[in-house]
Amino acid sequence: TATPITLLGLGAMGTALARTWLATGTPLTVWNRTPHRAQALAGEGATVAATAAEAVAAGRLVVVCLLDDESVGEALDGIDLSGKDLVNLTTGTPAQARARADWARARGARFLDGGIMAVPPMIGVPDSGAYVFYSGSEELFTEHREVLAVPAGTTFVGADPGFAALHDVALLSAMTGMFAGVAHAFALIRREEIAPTGFASLLADWLGAMAGSVHLAAEQLESGDYTKGVVSNLAMQVAGNETLLRTAEEQRVSPVLLTPYMALMARRLAAGRGDEDTTGVIDLLAVG
Ligand code: NDP
Repeated sequence: TATPITLLGLGAMGTALARTWLATGTPLTVWNRTPHRAQALAGEGATVAATAAEAVAAGRLVVVCLLDDESVGEALDGIDLSGKDLVNLTTGTPAQARARADWARARGARFLDGGIMAVPPMIGVPDSGAYVFYSGSEELFTEHREVLAVPAGTTFVGADPGFAALHDVALLSAMTGMFAGVAHAFALIRREEIAPTGFASLLADWLGAMAGSVHLAAEQLESGDYTKGVVSNLAMQVAGNETLLRTAEEQRVSPVLLTPYMALMARRLAAGRGDEDTTGVIDLLAVG
């Protein structure tokens, strides 16, 4: 028999999760602060609880997918969590996840934090690439792995409850930098007779081709030798940056999204590291 699940939070993500469990016949109790969002799910077989406390009382495995960490504290405030397995799929920082883990443990619950690497339409869709980073109680993870794997793939990244959030945010941060580069690229071509749709294909292919460079950077970080396997050294790349900046000027595009990164590259070059890769920039980012 399937493990019954309690799910708190029926926003875009919570609703997508709920539907995948209902589709596989998992007994599901749901609660949402604003009750009307639960009504459609009632018609699909979910048990709707009137309060969060009632929902939590319905079963041992409690999944929360709320807006932020503060809303998790608010929704679960004063509720008996002893003997519960709490899985927090709410996005937060590593420190918030660690504090939430301590908070759950003090209330007698086992705790697993999750970082969802997907948007709602990818949830429950085979081969969509959706997965969730999990960290915290490995026992909880192992025990409930099957039911947790219904909406998306699962990747356990360690007993430190902050690691799921850290992996999640690290990937999102890399994505943010990529989006900044894409914005600059579109700005460069925008005033010309170049169709953004055609250009987008070239851009996507190029970003895909360049993505593999992260493996070389990782090897350099692990060996501590940033000259290992260098393909395009820092001195050459800093020289190339001039062309990027001059082109931005010619196209009347602000270089604001590129210059902070370029300044760090120049600093590393000035420190006599021209034969390295750009990996040395990572050293310069450490603060405090
Ligand atoms: P929504 O904004 O659609 O839903 C937010 C949910 O949180 C609602 O159920 C809302 O209840 C509830 N909520 C907010 N504040 C409180 C509170 N103080 N007490 C109780 N409930 C509260 O967000 P999503 O469903 O999209 O996202 C949920 C989590 O999933 C977030 O942490 C998000 O970062 C994460 N996530 C979302 C992705 C996405 O693309 N959507 C992708 C990956 C992760 P009410 O209906 O009453 O307002």
